[in-house]
Amino acid sequence: MKKIIITFLLIGPYLIAAQKKSDEIMVASIYEEVLSNSPIYESLRVLCKDVGHRLSGSTGAAAAVEYTRQLMIEYNFDTVYLQPVMVPNWKRGPAEILKITNSKKHGVIGLNALALGNSIGTGPQGILAEIIELKGLEEIQKHKDNIAGKIVFFNGPMDPTLLKTFSAYGSAVSQRSSGAAKTEPYGAKAIIVRSMTQSLDDVPHAGSLRYQKGLKELPAMAISTKDADLLSQLLKDQADLRIYMENYAEMLPETQSYNVIGQLTGTLFPDEYIAVGGHLDSWDVGEGAHDDGSGCLQGIEVLRVFKSLKIKPKRTLRAVMWMNEENGGKGGKAYATLSEIRNENHIAAIESDRGGFVPRGFTSTGSDKQKQQFLKWKTIFEPYGLHDFDQSGGGADISPLSKQGTFLIGLLPDGQRYFRYHHTEKDVFEAVDRRELELGAASMASLVYLLDQYGLTH
Ligand SMILES: [Zn+2]
Repeated sequence: MKKIIITFLLIGPYLIAAQKKSDEIMVASIYEEVLSNSPIYESLRVLCKDVGHRLSGSTGAAAAVEYTRQLMIEYNFDTVYLQPVMVPNWKRGPAEILKITNSKKHGVIGLNALALGNSIGTGPQGILAEIIELKGLEEIQKHKDNIAGKIVFFNGPMDPTLLKTFSAYGSAVSQRSSGAAKTEPYGAKAIIVRSMTQSLDDVPHAGSLRYQKGLKELPAMAISTKDADLLSQLLKDQADLRIYMENYAEMLPETQSYNVIGQLTGTLFPDEYIAVGGHLDSWDVGEGAHDDGSGCLQGIEVLRVFKSLKIKPKRTLRAVMWMNEENGGKGGKAYATLSEIRNENHIAAIESDRGGFVPRGFTSTGSDKQKQQFLKWKTIFEPYGLHDFDQSGGGADISPLSKQGTFLIGLLPDGQRYFRYHHTEKDVFEAVDRRELELGAASMASLVYLLDQYGLTH
């Protein structure tokens, strides 16, 4: 026994160094494979151009389910299947009108606007009312006696000084998600929200709101940042400015949809799972290229790389396209629920839902022990430009897995340009750079390789 210990003490460091060397070689070959042979960019082209946008419950969403299923069958994954999930079926409807009707300076001014997801419509009678401008939910209390009968205009910008753009989004987005519910008790008639972006342009950003049970539902629309600035400026000179809103958005009964899953079954520990992917639904404008066609196809690419390099995973790997992240999160919840019922042990889940931009690192959420094991691999990624491993977070679709102790990981790409495109008509295939998309996929595949080799203990 003593001899064994001494031998290990002598050669142990060499074994660890040799192991690290072989990991580095494998990671290098994963990057090489993706950067020279990956079909991911062409697949994204098909998803964006042939399928197009794909809000839950739409024909586009159904076509996206079928396309990604076929793609994974074509790649010959061990199992490819659909997981049924009921999803909300919100429709924007035809015309959307938002205009200032009585500007003393300019007369009638049409505004660039989009109904917020899950919002009700005004119907053909429309809503005509005066405006009250608030910079955020925290201003409601101060102005609560001046809200009745008005359209509340939430004009709190995303903080441009925050380098972490997702933090700026996180601080501002409550105006969009809760503005209607929070002002309804004070008699608001409708809501207008400044688009969630630091860009100054004419493009309105979609996104969902949540009504509160027991309260009246108010129609709500987002306007472009330029129009928000214009409206704010005009209100300074003319307090009795009026806006006319007309749209036909409506929530239809829930409808059948699916998570799409492709699997490579583990050779040594088939009962340990690693899930990787993104959400298949998108908003009903643009093509959902960054949000989140990129993440879905990166998930598929991870498994394709394993096949292509003939790496037999020890654990079971799943590429998952979750449905309905944007306006319900039903796919993520259903996946976690079924996983619990089947007693599947997800050791880790990786979500890519911050755009197909150049990767800078990974976010993570889990126990200290899991984090320590994960951080040991950081140096392997540094030559590839991934340095940021400190931010916490996983992803909306994988977060329901945290209940079973799964280590949650999010791909962390450069976030400076994401909110230029997020939820808009500008989020199209051409907005994604081939190489940046590939680097993200290679980073995810490399991390999955390490997770598969060594596992993670809780
Ligand atoms: Zn997304």
